[in-house]
Amino acid sequence: MNTPATMSVDTEIQLIVAGDPAVTAEACTPDLADGPWVFDALPMPSYGPGASMADPIPAEAPRQGQLPEEYKTASKDELDARIRAAKETLGDRVVVLGHFYQRDEVVQYADFVGDSFQLANAALTVPQAEAIVFCGVHFMAETADILAKPSQSVILPNSRPAARWPTWPTSTPLKEAWAQLQEFYETEPDAEGRVPLIPVTYMNSSAALRGFCGRNGGIVCTSSNAATVLEWAFERGQRVLFFPDQHLGRNTAKAMGVPLERMPMWNPRKPLGGSTVDELVDAQVILWHGFCSVHKRFSVAQIEKARAAHPDVRVIVHPECPMPVVDAADAAGSTDFIVKAIQAAPAGSTFAIGTEINLVQRLANEYPQHTIFCLDDVICPCSTMYRIHPGYLAWVLEELVAGRVVNQITVGDDVAVPARVALERMLAARP
Ligand code: SF4
Repeated sequence: MNTPATMSVDTEIQLIVAGDPAVTAEACTPDLADGPWVFDALPMPSYGPGASMADPIPAEAPRQGQLPEEYKTASKDELDARIRAAKETLGDRVVVLGHFYQRDEVVQYADFVGDSFQLANAALTVPQAEAIVFCGVHFMAETADILAKPSQSVILPNSRPAARWPTWPTSTPLKEAWAQLQEFYETEPDAEGRVPLIPVTYMNSSAALRGFCGRNGGIVCTSSNAATVLEWAFERGQRVLFFPDQHLGRNTAKAMGVPLERMPMWNPRKPLGGSTVDELVDAQVILWHGFCSVHKRFSVAQIEKARAAHPDVRVIVHPECPMPVVDAADAAGSTDFIVKAIQAAPAGSTFAIGTEINLVQRLANEYPQHTIFCLDDVICPCSTMYRIHPGYLAWVLEELVAGRVVNQITVGDDVAVPARVALERMLAARP
């Protein structure tokens, strides 16, 4: 269970797939050892700037440029030299942001490392940068573009969409659900002036969803402030439609005292979302049928195994984990919460962490005074984050040196303006 954290996740995966007997861990799929360009070459449409996950792709939408062959075949040392040289040439004209869940081979070049909201705010501190290279996922780059100055370009080094977010609502199913719910509930506010339904979206969602919330009296939340945001919504609405991550919604509302029977799930493939009329009438939080594939892997059995092996272990999990896992853990919180808990612990502490493996192994390396390991024995990084390889970073930086912007993410005003409204409501919400 306690993999010695002396190598990066990527190195470990390469050794596992090569059958190196020195590495005993398993990887969840051997595909991870391939360059992401192998996946990118599959015959599926690419994703244009400003699009949202699984939204229909307009025929005229710009397509991601193909990574030139030289970046696929370059050695690690060559890519390292090229990335450093390009960054030096660009100087403060570029800022590179690295999400906590990125592989170490990319994070090492980041000017700022953090969660999605921290990175979007970090970008605001470098207004002189002409380009913001966001090593994360699509919706994070959208946030950066919404907050960026018009003169700044936001670049996602590999902007091809991942195929593994099947239950993430696109704007179209959400609009259909919203229309059904509007029809179901009375449209007039109650005696206290509370409207029937308030939409609340997690920051980790496409700009289209955040724009939807802004247009419909709703709000955005992060994993750190979800309870504050739900309080805000309960003051203004009789109930909440929470999306896309059911687990964050359920864990947060349960901790606030909302009974589970008042949290029906909305499955867009079923009539009335799969709930009965009575369940919807009584609902306080309607949970969208979505989840994060990384955090869904954690289980109570893993926690029991960690406790058996390390009786003094402190188990901390992310609130995107399923409710039984959060209930069995010692604490649940955002990536920032996890990092701070480790920083504050006395030397010699033992932690089992339920979040993305790249962050966990990096923390294990950064805090050798503790024993830190991932709850999941299997090496299974976020496949969407993993799509960014140093080859893509070298490519977009060298293109910038040549005066060309590739893989730019832009969000049109029709989405950006209401998305900003939902974000401003969140920033103004106070506990
Ligand atoms: S799959 Fe989970 S960890 Fe990966 S980007 Fe999506 S929400 Fe984040």
